[in-house]
Amino acid sequence: MAVAARTDLAFQQCIAPACGATFSIDEVLTSCPSCGNLLDVTYDWDRLPAPSSFEVFERKWMRRSDPLALSGVWRFHELLPFAPRESVVTIGEGQTLLSVSDGVGRYVGMNAGQLHLQYEGLNPSGSFKDNGMSAAFSHARMIGATRAACASTGNTSASLAVYCAVTRLMRGIIFIGSGKISYGKLSQALDYGALTIQITGDFDDAMARVKEVASKMGIYLVNSVNPFRLEGQKTIMFRVLESLGWEVPDWIVVPGGNLGNSSSFGKAFAELRHLGLIDRIPRLAVINAAGANTLHELFHNRGLRWNGGHTDLAPVCHYYDELDRDGKRADTLASAIEINRPVNLNKCLRALEVCDGVVREVSEQEILDAKAQVGAGGLGCEPASAASVAGARKLVNEGVIGRDDRVVCILTGHQLKDPNATVAYHTTDQKLFNEVLGSRGVSRASYANRAVSVGNRFDEIVQAIDLYS
Ligand SMILES: *Cc1c(COP(=O)(O)O)cnc(C)c1O
Ligand SMILES: [Zn+2]
Repeated sequence: MAVAARTDLAFQQCIAPACGATFSIDEVLTSCPSCGNLLDVTYDWDRLPAPSSFEVFERKWMRRSDPLALSGVWRFHELLPFAPRESVVTIGEGQTLLSVSDGVGRYVGMNAGQLHLQYEGLNPSGSFKDNGMSAAFSHARMIGATRAACASTGNTSASLAVYCAVTRLMRGIIFIGSGKISYGKLSQALDYGALTIQITGDFDDAMARVKEVASKMGIYLVNSVNPFRLEGQKTIMFRVLESLGWEVPDWIVVPGGNLGNSSSFGKAFAELRHLGLIDRIPRLAVINAAGANTLHELFHNRGLRWNGGHTDLAPVCHYYDELDRDGKRADTLASAIEINRPVNLNKCLRALEVCDGVVREVSEQEILDAKAQVGAGGLGCEPASAASVAGARKLVNEGVIGRDDRVVCILTGHQLKDPNATVAYHTTDQKLFNEVLGSRGVSRASYANRAVSVGNRFDEIVQAIDLYS
């Protein structure tokens, strides 16, 4: 169906060009009813009052008493214009920070001033998920949903739970797998009062189940198959550009789990270019953990491509059959990206095409060492987030990223999300190290900051301080 056939300014559209079916934004869909592919939120930009320069967003900084201007998502409302102002849900998300980190930059192999960290840990629930959740909640409010559900490795559930608790708009229902959720995240879901359903199985199982339950029970699904969520996540890129004085960096490096973030970044840049707000698109690097490396395997090793929308999905099915046959499950300490069947795979392939992207995988050792460097640099993050820094380092080593390129690594979640991994890395307790990290193939804590044990005696303490400071 042609875009011109619609009279609405925002609608949902199947991402497969061969299908292209469109649906009203009032419909609740997580895939195309005609062909099963993913859906986009599409805008009729020609008829929308789209901004002709970035200034309109800067001007909002003066109106921070307006919740929509304060929000790091809704400050960019004109670039995700699916919700009328009165439907917008915000709890102050997106107050994030882009900073140059020369310490981490040195570790990555970059020249001074070039490595930037986009710290999404500052969001209300401590991860980037809040960007998307505020958009999903705005849509849910438009259509009058009363219950929302998600499957989660932890952060989506924490985000859903806090939006439910603050707004009281919906009852939150969370599906988690057994054993693989970090306590920082689980504690948030419980504390904020969400209904938490733990099923036997892993994230991929929980994801498949929640889709079924949500569609049969008419519960609003807030996983990133929800196209409205990804609209909110586009704003991470808008804030990166804003922090760089609207200059486009050379590289965006992001961890890849369900691939919603990477997908939304590609859409953000494609739209900004379409609107003439940027004339160049940064390259995208999506980083998998080696223990959950479906995208790396399919894109990097097996040549799977978006191919203008004519993706040959046969290798994907074949690969998933292989996983089943071998009983292979996603397995990484970076629990937020411990996913083997990324729901946004096809959209991510499109983003990789738009952004001339690359995919790499990093080991547990590389992730934890990078995480320690990020912590020492002052912005603590959870293991999954550090995959971006570890991946950047790998790409600099390979000469794919130049030492003088301007690079932005996305730190997706806060350090306190997963304190176990951090303590186990820095511990002097070899047994704890072996239990948590050694068993996962981490052989050393290259940048451990070990506690110094002394007796409770003044002279011993003075001696220790003299020796170590
Ligand atoms: C959800 C999450 C990811 C993965 O993001 P996707 O959009 O699913 O690829 C990475 N890091 C953290 C901290 C997350 O919460
Ligand atoms: Zn379709």
